[in-house]
Formats: sequence, structure tokens, C-alpha cells
Amino acid sequence: MKREDIIKGKENNFMEKYTHFPEGKYITVAVLRETKSECIFRTEGSGEGLNKERVPLGMESKTNDFRAIISKRKQCAVERRTGREYLRLNDLLFTTKDKSICALNKNTPCGKCLDCMTNGFAVGDGGAQKSRMIYDNAYSILPFNMVTGTKTFNALYDNGTMRDEKGNASSSINQDEYIKPGTVFIDMITFKDVTFIEFIYGISNILRSKRYGAISSRIGKMNNVILKVAFSDCELFSNLELTQSVYDKLGAASEIEFPLEISKVKEYAKKSFDNLKKCIFGSITELNDEELNNLLEYIKSAYQEDGEEKAADLYREQSMQYGK
Ligand SMILES: [Zn+2]
Repeated sequence: MKREDIIKGKENNFMEKYTHFPEGKYITVAVLRETKSECIFRTEGSGEGLNKERVPLGMESKTNDFRAIISKRKQCAVERRTGREYLRLNDLLFTTKDKSICALNKNTPCGKCLDCMTNGFAVGDGGAQKSRMIYDNAYSILPFNMVTGTKTFNALYDNGTMRDEKGNASSSINQDEYIKPGTVFIDMITFKDVTFIEFIYGISNILRSKRYGAISSRIGKMNNVILKVAFSDCELFSNLELTQSVYDKLGAASEIEFPLEISKVKEYAKKSFDNLKKCIFGSITELNDEELNNLLEYIKSAYQEDGEEKAADLYREQSMQYGK
């Protein structure tokens, strides 16, 4: 499949090429994120517990309770890393002013690679690009208490026991809260004024990211499923509203239990999206199921050896277009 087939009739929703001037072309991607192992999402180094926020559980049901959160920072950091790995592998990260290769969390982004241009960068001497992939905190559908557990573990001594060589008992007992496998989060990522290739890059990074914990840990496995792709001339509703609406539907069907049935969640999320969309003062079009499926197949083949249009070639083409 070729890109012309993927964007047929949708060309106007993408920028033909990158420009500084916003045109208000929004693409919203609704994502279902399901944990596949124990996960710990917290603000690193803060010494605090898991990220959570007290919110109304539904739009109809006004009960307030805590929900677990995957912060926008976490999502963005993980997904950028995935994208950058691929760019690095294909020599598509460029050198910075101090002659090193473009890297995250350093003060010298190259400012000309696909990732800098899509996810944004800022350098000391005033060069900057706003991120054109807008993330928001993702909320668990179920309340915090239903999706988390606590583990107590004792720190062992080198000899593998709870006592040191003098026979003193270990006093370091740690307690850790974790998010259970099978927890579902509803999320939306908004692209603004992107080209088709920039869009493919961003959405590929969501699909190809599988681990949201510390790199060295065995926890943090996650599966991301794209539920909807919608084009609009303004921003849509919030993650929280979509999550609340799904919660209401589960409640109405007496299906609030852990773990949730994924097929039901998908169905309710799509319905909720359609309902909330009706309240937006803007023009919205969506990919239908077949078009979405074609897009996903196109992306899959782009990362395969025998793909007709290879991701690396697309990304090289886009990098050249920045003309830097
Ligand atoms: Zn860069």
C-alpha cells in the first residue's frame, strides 16, 4: 500500500510541508493503554507514591475518587525514546553545535531531526520549536483502589538472607504500591499541523512503545491500541471526559469490575467519543474502521524488511524537507 491510498480524501488534514505558521489542523488519536505487567508510575526522585488524582469518576455519576495516572511527561519521554532509537539506527539524528549527536535531556538538541521538529526543542541561543504532538495525563478507568496493590519486600543482605554476618535482622523493609497488570487507561494524543510523515512517525512511536518502566526493570510492560483517528479544525474534549464517559457506560451495564473486559471498553470508548464529539463547535471527520485498519497495516509494513514504503525512507524524505 502506498501513502496516496492512505490519505485519499484526507489530504487537507495534513500539512503539505512543514511551516512555522499554524493552520489549526488537528489530528486526535484515541489510545487504549493496557498494562501487561506490574507498573509503577510516579514522579521520579520525589519519594512519593504512585501518581494519582482525585476526580469525579463519571460525568453522570458524580462520586469523587482517586484515579491512577500516567503522566504526559512519562508517555512523551518513552515514546520519543522509541522514535529516536529508530532514527539513530538509520543515521537520522543529526549533529549539534558542539558536534555531538542529538540527544534528549541535554542542552544541545540538533533542532533539525524529525524528533526535534515533531516533539519540539529549545536551545540556549533562541532556536525553538513548539511540540506538535500534545500529550495529556491518562487516567485509569477504574478507581485507584481497584487497580493497585501493595507489596512488602525486605531488602536482602549480600548473603541472600534477612540477617547480616553478625546475625542482625534487616531493618529495611520497603513497601511499594504498584498498578496491577490488566489496568486500562484511556488516552488521547493531539497532533497539530503535521505532515503525513510526521504523523506516521508520532503514531508509530505510540504503537512501538512497549515498556513504560525504568529501562533496567522487569516491570512496566504496556500495550497500546489505537481506537480512533479524528481530524478537526479545533481541539476536542479532554482525556478525563472520555474516561468518565466510559466509566458511566460501564456503570450503566453493571460492568465495573477488575479486570475490565477489553472488548467492552473498546466499544464504550468509541461510543463515548462519538457522543462527546457532538458537543464540539468545529468540523470533525474520522477514519472509518477500514481506513484505520489500512493505516495500521501501512505502518506495520513500513517497519518490515519487504515493506513497500519504508519508514526510514519516509523519515529521510521528511528530514530533507526541513532544509536545515
Ligand atoms: Zn534532533
